[in-house]
Amino acid sequence: MAEEFDIARVTVVDHPMVQHKLSILRDANTGSKQFREIVKELGLFEGYEATRDFPLEDVHVTTPVCETVCKKISGRKVAVVPILRAGLGMVDGLLELVPAARVGHIGMYRDEGTHEPHEYYCKMPADIDKRICLVVDPMLATGGSAIAAIQYLRGQGVKDIRLLVIIAAPEGIKAVLDADENVRLFTCSIDERLNERAYIVPGLGDAGDRIFGTK
Ligand code: URA
Repeated sequence: MAEEFDIARVTVVDHPMVQHKLSILRDANTGSKQFREIVKELGLFEGYEATRDFPLEDVHVTTPVCETVCKKISGRKVAVVPILRAGLGMVDGLLELVPAARVGHIGMYRDEGTHEPHEYYCKMPADIDKRICLVVDPMLATGGSAIAAIQYLRGQGVKDIRLLVIIAAPEGIKAVLDADENVRLFTCSIDERLNERAYIVPGLGDAGDRIFGTK
C-alpha cells in the first residue's frame, strides 16, 4: 500500500541537473571520487531550496558605477548537522553555500540485524538551540537515524529543523513526518520502497561505502 504523508512538508528538488547527477550516483559503475563530488554538489543544490525562505534585508553597496541598494540574508544562524558517516559527504557543499554555518556531528550506526539506529557520538555548537539546523544524510530509508537525530536536536532546544537527503523511501518519509510535526524534508527523489534488508529500491546502494570506498 502506498505510504501517506503530508507532501506540503516535502520538497522534491527535481531540477534537470539534479536528475542528471542522480543518474550517475545510482550507477553501480560510478567510482568513489565521482560519487563524492556529486554528493557534495547535491548538498549545495538542496541547500538552495532549503534556504529559500531566509529573510533578506537592505544593504547599501557602492558598485564601480554608483551607489545602490542590495539584499543580504538577515541574521539567520545555521548549523549543518551530518548524521555520521554518510552525511559527511554533503557537508562541504552546504558550507560553500553558507560559509558561516557551524557543523554539529551526530554519530549513528545501524544494527544490521534489527536495523535500529544507535547513537555513539554527538558534538554540537554551544548555541545550537538558536540555529536553523540542516540535518544531512544522503539516504532516508526506515527513518530511524533521522528520527533519533531530530529527537536529539529537539531535546537541545532546536526549533527549526530541515532534513536534507538525496534519496528518500516513502516509508522513511512517513516515519519522519509522523515522528515530528514541524520538521521539513528536502529530497532529490522519492524512490519506490525498501527491500527486506531496509535498502532503498532502486536507490544507490550503501551511500557511506560508496563515498568512502569501503567494503
Ligand atoms: N542507507 C544506505 O546507504 N542505503 C540504503 O539504501 C539505505 C540506507
